[in-house]
Amino acid sequence: MMVVGGIDLGGSKIETTAFTAHWQVLATRRVPTPATSYDNLLAVLAEEIAWLKGQSSEVSFPIGVGTPGLNARTHGFSFAANLEGGARNLKQDLSDRVGQVIWFENDANCFALSEALLGAGRGHGTVFGLILGTGVGGGYVVNGRLLDDLNGASGEVGHLGIPAALVRQLDLPLFRCGCGQTGCYETLLSGPGLARLHTHFGGTAASPREIAVRDAAGEPVATRALSAWIDLLASLVAALQATYDPRAVVIGGGLSNLPNLTERLEANLPEKMLPKTQAPALQIAEHGDSSGAWGAALAAQAAWQV
Ligand SMILES: [Zn+2]
Repeated sequence: MMVVGGIDLGGSKIETTAFTAHWQVLATRRVPTPATSYDNLLAVLAEEIAWLKGQSSEVSFPIGVGTPGLNARTHGFSFAANLEGGARNLKQDLSDRVGQVIWFENDANCFALSEALLGAGRGHGTVFGLILGTGVGGGYVVNGRLLDDLNGASGEVGHLGIPAALVRQLDLPLFRCGCGQTGCYETLLSGPGLARLHTHFGGTAASPREIAVRDAAGEPVATRALSAWIDLLASLVAALQATYDPRAVVIGGGLSNLPNLTERLEANLPEKMLPKTQAPALQIAEHGDSSGAWGAALAAQAAWQV
């Protein structure tokens, strides 16, 4: 039986799933990510691949690994700097060790692929998967494929700058971003960003969920913060339109659970979009944590068929 393997390599856990060719889950398991050394990580990943191979009668089949980081596709390794593996090429080392090519893809692209093909974006030819969580990122899928982009950076829209007019209109604070620039969308549109907006407008420290509850209860500061956050999100979706013009935008990550998100976004979007254009279909992601393994397997299968 044809099997496709997907491995979600995160900072704390590794989730490995064997899928059938029709994307049913055959078997799945989780192990902790070793935090001790690069060689241990390599050994644990090789064990996961051996376990995957035990699920199939085929000697080799597509296996993909999804992991955070811009250079995941080429190097497979850009997090956990404490593992002293920064200069090593995990993709190459792992492929050599197990005797077949193992595909790597960054986790935002894995999310976009899994939602475009097997989730809320199904049926749309062009889908942008937008993650709103501790960071802001995404990936773009055209007819079921990721772009053949130079760095795998094409969905990193959290690092676009917030428009100056919006900063002035909403009295937004400018923060330095982890990428080195100042005033990136991510600094205010991520979960920590919404909390920053709330304190900037005079509120106390609160989680996004608490801010939403206070907004619903009619607290003016929470309402101002959440309303500014929706403005920022609509502005980013308008930027997606001017660049990718996707037919659907699928929103995932922790903040996608905020109440009435798509309705509020739909109401705000027309004033931000280019004149006489249609808004993309706005959807909330269907897959939660499992999108990493699905997307990695989808990326591997697509590359396998080339
Ligand atoms: Zn940035």
